[in-house]
Amino acid sequence: CSKAEGRNRYHFFETRLQLEVQERKALERDLSRAIANNEFELFYQPIIDVKDHRIVGMEALVRWFHPSRGLVSPVDFIPVAERMGIIAEVGKWVLNNACLQTREWNNAGLGKLLISVNLSPLELARHEDLIESVGDALQKTGLDPHQLQFEVTEGAMMDNPREAAITLGMLRNQGIRIAIDDFGTGYSSLAYLKRFPVDKLKIDRSFIIDLDQEDGNSAIVRAVVFMARSFGMSVNVEGIETEKQLDRIRAEGVDELQGFFFSKPLPAPEMEALLQKQIGAGLVPGMTTH
Ligand code: C2E
Ligand code: MG
Ligand code: MG
Ligand code: MG
Repeated sequence: CSKAEGRNRYHFFETRLQLEVQERKALERDLSRAIANNEFELFYQPIIDVKDHRIVGMEALVRWFHPSRGLVSPVDFIPVAERMGIIAEVGKWVLNNACLQTREWNNAGLGKLLISVNLSPLELARHEDLIESVGDALQKTGLDPHQLQFEVTEGAMMDNPREAAITLGMLRNQGIRIAIDDFGTGYSSLAYLKRFPVDKLKIDRSFIIDLDQEDGNSAIVRAVVFMARSFGMSVNVEGIETEKQLDRIRAEGVDELQGFFFSKPLPAPEMEALLQKQIGAGLVPGMTTH
């Protein structure tokens, strides 16, 4: 290729790189203003009791409505917030609003619901900030700590197992529940798992997908349930999309279900309508155990 072509190509890549840098900077700038600009919203995905399909609670899932980009997925902006060092602010906003909403539904007679909040590995690592944020949120909203659950991934715990165990233990001593999210996709050691103060395993969606196939089998789910039981933990299954998956899962003796088959994550008013609907049907939403 000629010299001129080579130069053009160089300019092409240079420009694309510059654009990417500008793009990233713009996203970071916008994200740093998202809380002040009221651009976050919590969606809620119902958590269902396997026995009677009662709504026992919900997982809080944050959404960012960007003024020009529209809806940005947490998969795309949570890592940016982590890189920027503002994940604690985002986490605080999520926690405060999740606790507040749960307390309001409580007061409105819609049930004593479990609220499950995702924790970034970085939040778990900064345990002093985390404990303070949790104390603030519970005090401000008056939510019963037994209604609060944190979801952490295996990776987050294994980064620094000793410290994670202490932090999770402190939360659990306040009555807060701890669940391992996306269980089975990480590399947690069984030896550690036994020693971690954990209440619940949330089996990752990837193990549920092939249960829809004729030759799919639930051996992994069965093994996880067996292990969870021997550690005194309960089991949630995420990502149930079809009746066939549900039937196979039900046979394995799990406790809680989540997935599009029941409901997608919903904005608060729609979640509230779903609670009202259950009450109308004679079921009382809320936790059974305390
Ligand atoms: P996650 O905690 O494992 O949440 C489950 C994800 O699976 C959610 O995606 C949910 O909408 C989706 N999902 C639920 N049921 C089904 C189903 O039946 N089929 C399929 N295909 N998907 C289903 P979402 O809301 O986009 O969140 C993605 C991830 O972003 C979460 O994964 C979590 O790791 C993170 N995230 C969301 N909100 C927060 C937050 O407030 N704080 C932190 N640190 N992370 C968050
Ligand atoms: Mg989760
Ligand atoms: Mg998950
Ligand atoms: Mg996940």
